[in-house]
Amino acid sequence: MDTPFYKNGLKFECQRCSACCRHDPGYVYLSALDFIRLRSFLGLDFAEFFNKFIRMVDVGSGYAVSLKEKSNYDCIMWSPNGCSVYEARPVQCSTYPFWNSIIESAGSWAMEALECPGINKGELISQKTILEKVNKRRNDSLLIVSYDVNLESLDEDTLLGRERILANTPDPFETAQ
Ligand code: SF4
Ligand code: SF4
Repeated sequence: MDTPFYKNGLKFECQRCSACCRHDPGYVYLSALDFIRLRSFLGLDFAEFFNKFIRMVDVGSGYAVSLKEKSNYDCIMWSPNGCSVYEARPVQCSTYPFWNSIIESAGSWAMEALECPGINKGELISQKTILEKVNKRRNDSLLIVSYDVNLESLDEDTLLGRERILANTPDPFETAQ
């Protein structure tokens, strides 16, 4: 395998500008663990949580589970104080900007820096930590629901694939951050 361009680490420190949480349309996809953790954090039952915060997105292989956005394209979890579910935020958020697509090359990292003012600032993040974040996202795969499922009558067991989750899931709070 080629030595990655980030073998000596990369600098990143979030500047709390909220640019990645607001203003532009986008998707914050959830894994099953994200879903469980967020619902538990907010103390809502399945129907309340699903109806208020979730939208199903056709991704070509089924329906992925995403957070809704407000009419101004802010993430529904964003508040004037920042992310209202920070401690339980989705893996997609907690592993940013160490996504495969962003650390693919020095060029893709530099391109992302145009969008995120935290890139190339502050703390040096080691290659080991970067790879841990990449693996965390890879291991916590997106929740995709089959086209066969009736979204109108979706329940939690069907959405989460309950058997699979119970078989290999520790306390979801232990897997956050
Ligand atoms: S765009 Fe970058 S600096 Fe701004 S909130 Fe997101 S991660 Fe932090
Ligand atoms: S869940 Fe929180 S961190 Fe993630 S996009 Fe929404 S407001 Fe930002």
